[in-house]
Amino acid sequence: MNVLTKPRLAFWTDAEELECTSFLKEAPNVMTFSFQSPSGALFNFDPGQFLTLELPTADGPVHRTYTISSSPSRPTSLTVTVKAQPDSIGTRWMFDNLRPGMRLKVRGPGGGFSMMNHPAAKYLFISAGSGITPMMSMTTFLYDSGRPSDIVFVNCAKRPSEIIFRERLEHMASRVTGIDLKWIVETTDPYQPWTGYRGFFNQLMLGLIAQDYLEREVFCCGPAPFMQAVRDALTGLGFDMDRYHQESFGGPLREVERVPDDVLPQDDATAVVTFAGSGKVAKCAQTDTILMVARAAGIPLATGCGMGICGTCIVQKTSGQVHMVHNGGITDEDVEAGYILACCSHPIGDVEIDL
Ligand SMILES: Cc1cc2nc3c(=O)[nH]c(=O)nc-3n(C[C@H](O)[C@H](O)[C@H](O)COP(=O)(O)OP(=O)(O)OC[C@H]3O[C@@H](n4cnc5c(N)ncnc54)[C@H](O)[C@@H]3O)c2cc1C
Repeated sequence: MNVLTKPRLAFWTDAEELECTSFLKEAPNVMTFSFQSPSGALFNFDPGQFLTLELPTADGPVHRTYTISSSPSRPTSLTVTVKAQPDSIGTRWMFDNLRPGMRLKVRGPGGGFSMMNHPAAKYLFISAGSGITPMMSMTTFLYDSGRPSDIVFVNCAKRPSEIIFRERLEHMASRVTGIDLKWIVETTDPYQPWTGYRGFFNQLMLGLIAQDYLEREVFCCGPAPFMQAVRDALTGLGFDMDRYHQESFGGPLREVERVPDDVLPQDDATAVVTFAGSGKVAKCAQTDTILMVARAAGIPLATGCGMGICGTCIVQKTSGQVHMVHNGGITDEDVEAGYILACCSHPIGDVEIDL
């Protein structure tokens, strides 16, 4: 529907679907999709937060989590910028099917990866590939504030033509003094001169890129090996890692501090999960997740990231014990109230779930 809705002085909540309004190719295999709320409600979120979209594929709905790449300082619309992998299911569906006028169910916004939670005078935003999305939102927000800011913005890409948002960032950097852009590429594009950095991010580059890195609040997002390289470089240089923040788009669960009374799932031990709402009882291994057990029992349960970040698979545990290793997708208050994330909770003994 191509009707311009006048903004309403009300804030959008995920009870309302989002309507796709446009899409734009950003770089090879990267698209930005814009959305508005059909009611005209405004978007209020912290720059760096994410949404989980329900994508109605031919094989049924799948859930994918994407950082909001736009800024809440431009609240009448919202964008996500998505990179398709060769065998993508969710993102590929968006490339092929998501068009203006279509409406999607959405959950969020969620997540705490935002400079709003760590205010500082100087920032180092360092990203690789699609990990640039939260940095774009945070930089646009700081730029729109009209106040002087001090951002060293580093992005690593395969080649210059694959740097996402390059022109938009250069435009912002050309209008204020506080945005210092640094590009690092693995290789160059044929017949295109390149004067930026070349190779993989390393400790030596860090000192050249931001001599005062010790004074900066660092936000990092990208593939796991990239973030590991950034962490190694910073720790090797004596950086205070309390000022380092990262967002993972995939990969293994973070090891969390074990609480003393936490019981670990045993390889050879069994458990029994009762799904009270469906009247089903399933015997399983303690190493299974509640999500795996629900699926095997034929009980539908929406999931997103599969690693305890997005919070889509939150369920109420009414009795029993689970071992949960999440990545920040559930609040302490919800845990206190008996909620768990099914994707990263292992049943210990007899457990009852309200599902
Ligand atoms: C908090 C958060 C924020 C995110 N923000 C963004 C964002 O702004 N833009 C964006 O493009 N993605 C983002 N992601 C990743 C996104 O949610 C999907 O995991 C990713 O796009 C893969 O989904 P798919 O449908 O493309 O592929 P799938 O159908 O899930 O998987 C297809 C193949 O891709 C591999 N794969 C799965 N996830 C990744 C990954 N992250 N990187 C590389 N290969 C993968 C799988 O192993 C599989 O082989 C975010 C994830 C999280 C948890």
